[in-house]
Amino acid sequence: PDKLAEILRGWTVDASNPPPSRKIYSADDIKSAIAHQELVNYYQPKVSVENGDVIGVETLVRWHHPKDGVIMPDRFIHIAEDNNLIDDLTHLVLTQAIVQAGKWHQSGLTLRVSINVTMDNLASLNFQDMVVNLVNENNLPPQKIVIEITESQVMGPDARIPLEILTRLRLKRFHLSIDDFGTGHSSLAQLRDIPFNELKIDQGFVHRAWSDDTLRAIYDASLAMGKQLGMDIVAEGVEDRDDWELLRQTGCDMAQGNFISEPLLADDLPRWMDEWQNRVRA
Ligand code: C2E
Ligand code: CA
Ligand code: CA
Ligand code: CA
Repeated sequence: PDKLAEILRGWTVDASNPPPSRKIYSADDIKSAIAHQELVNYYQPKVSVENGDVIGVETLVRWHHPKDGVIMPDRFIHIAEDNNLIDDLTHLVLTQAIVQAGKWHQSGLTLRVSINVTMDNLASLNFQDMVVNLVNENNLPPQKIVIEITESQVMGPDARIPLEILTRLRLKRFHLSIDDFGTGHSSLAQLRDIPFNELKIDQGFVHRAWSDDTLRAIYDASLAMGKQLGMDIVAEGVEDRDDWELLRQTGCDMAQGNFISEPLLADDLPRWMDEWQNRVRA
């Protein structure tokens, strides 16, 4: 029956209008999505491994496409980057996130809100002014905003100028996080030069690290390196109780992943927090 379904599907596919799962979007599509504010921030909780406290959320953008439904970021971020649209995209995501963080803050939820930025974003002249203005306008302490940059981007060949910008952001009290750690081969010496507050172990070295010696070796080394430099360690991609147990046994500070929660719409966060409190107490 599966085979038949496949054949039938083959007959009905119109090549000029591929199904949304395979459609490749153009720069104009993305430009229009930004202009029409079709990009929606989701927020994935990040919790303390020790006591379950909700420390913060990571902003993860999705495109609510009027026809194709919810489009994941790996299908449009790189197009934005390649077509000079990433500054506009980041500006929109950052504005939405900081306004939301300000609302949470006012309602007594003092969450840290993490935002993914690219090196191109940091190199563009007004990034720092933009983020400083946004926190001021929303009465938010800058240390509640965490700027995530991937390890491979920070250690790349053109890293020099943006590193100065990172240092200046630290001086303004923003938090800095090195993302996807373990995929970029940085050394202790390189890491020491950059004032990161947080290290996120890439999900590829977290899920099932308890059962795979190679993953476990990279997980352990990343944890040790980050601890030695005084950083908070976040494990990403925590998918089940076994993963969570490894974090507990090894003294990882924070956990993020579907075992705790999938990325949520802002409105769904309070209800999730109630449920999570019950899970932690149980
Ligand atoms: P990332 O920064 O490494 O974000 C973590 C990704 O892992 C997210 O995918 C998240 O939904 C997913 N994830 C979370 N928990 C689990 C889990 O337990 N298991 C598995 N398998 N995956 C999990 P998402 O939302 O599809 O985002 C993919 C990437 O797109 C992000 O990777 C980030 O690099 C980029 N991205 C997302 N939003 C933005 C943005 O606003 N700006 C920029 N520049 N990049 C973004
Ligand atoms: Ca990230
Ligand atoms: Ca990551
Ligand atoms: Ca990633």
